[in-house]
Formats: sequence, C-alpha cells, structure tokens
Amino acid sequence: MPQTDRQCGGCNICCTTMKVSPLNKPAGVSCGHITEAGCGNYENRPEVCRTWYCMWVRDTNGILSDEERPDKLGVFFTATLPDHETKRQTLYAHEILPGAAENSAARATIQRLSRYVPIQFIPARNPITPVTMNGQPLHEAA
Ligand code: SF4
Ligand code: SF4
Repeated sequence: MPQTDRQCGGCNICCTTMKVSPLNKPAGVSCGHITEAGCGNYENRPEVCRTWYCMWVRDTNGILSDEERPDKLGVFFTATLPDHETKRQTLYAHEILPGAAENSAARATIQRLSRYVPIQFIPARNPITPVTMNGQPLHEAA
C-alpha cells in the first residue's frame, strides 16, 4: 500500500478499468477474482495489483475527501509524472460510467482541482473507460 491511511474499502473500480496482463484481463472487463469481500486472489494477486493505486488512495495531502472515493464520486483521478521542463503535472479525470461525472459532487471536485493543476477529462466509454498502468486512457496510450 502507498504511505497513506487510505484503504480501497468497498471500491474495486480499477479491478475493472485496468488491464491486468498477468491475468490476461483486458481493460474494461471485471476481474474474475472480484468478490463482495474484496479480492478473492489477494495473497496471489499480481504485482501490478499490489502497486497501482489511484490518486484517491495515494493522496497524502488531504486533497480528496473520503466521500470522493471513486465508486462514490463516479470519477477517479490519475496523475502524469511532472513535466521535464515545467515540473507540472496533469491530472486525468476518468469518468467511470457514461454520465457519472454530471453529478454535482463530481463536477465540484473537478472544478476545485482544476484551479491547481490542468485536468484532462476522459469521458466514459461504453461500458467503462479503460486506462493503462501509467494512468492514461487506453485510446491515448502508445
Ligand atoms: S479505483 Fe482507487 S480506490 Fe478504487 S479500488 Fe482502485 S485504487 Fe482503490
Ligand atoms: S486480482 Fe484482485 S486486485 Fe487484481 S484485478 Fe483481480 S480482483 Fe483486483
């Protein structure tokens, strides 16, 4: 886990959005190990499942509240590495399901964060927006 107090809890969004190559799981397809109690393959889950976390879990600065957990908000965030020259980062706001980012909470979060950092909004595709492990939407990844 990253060095935060956050646990994914009831959220398992990335177990669907992410491509997990060691399991031959495509992006956008729910992992067969998802259970109501969490990962059913926890002890043997691939390295990528142990190391990849969205910004909500990695947030050590209190930027996102508990209520902004991806499954509650309808959006999750990933960040690029700092630009080599400007040192600035870009946030990707990934809409989880079509229309999910239209609720007032999601809009307010995106608006708030956009005051501090450029945000690229990635609308959900049917049925869910796939992303790669570097946080970029699949259709923009090399
Ligand atoms: S999307 Fe974030 S909070 Fe949800 S399961 Fe993945 S890492 Fe955890
Ligand atoms: S193995 Fe577990 S942690 Fe990894 S994608 Fe599947 S359910 Fe999620």
